[in-house]
Amino acid sequence: MTFALGSVPERLAGNHFELDEEESHIAVNQELAKQTNAGELLERVCPAHVYARNADGTISVEYAACLECGTCLAVAPVGVLSWHYPRGGFGVAFREG
Ligand code: SF4
Repeated sequence: MTFALGSVPERLAGNHFELDEEESHIAVNQELAKQTNAGELLERVCPAHVYARNADGTISVEYAACLECGTCLAVAPVGVLSWHYPRGGFGVAFREG
């Protein structure tokens, strides 16, 4: 038996995101981000492309696409990120394995 898995973007498109427009579950300490150049690392590791480096070393966060995998929290320099799961009823709902 074979499965047509599709590309990663195709598979991610099957997920559903319930956006909490009042509260982001990710916050960045921008001064520490600039000092540690954390933006480059976060851009590389996040599978959902939530983070984007700005020219001044700060980091923009598009939290609506977060897959809640926790990778960024595991690799970010201490103190750069404040991350928690979205409030109940919000966040990602996986449609495929
Ligand atoms: Fe990206 Fe995963 Fe961090 Fe969400 S938890 S911002 S998907 S690395």
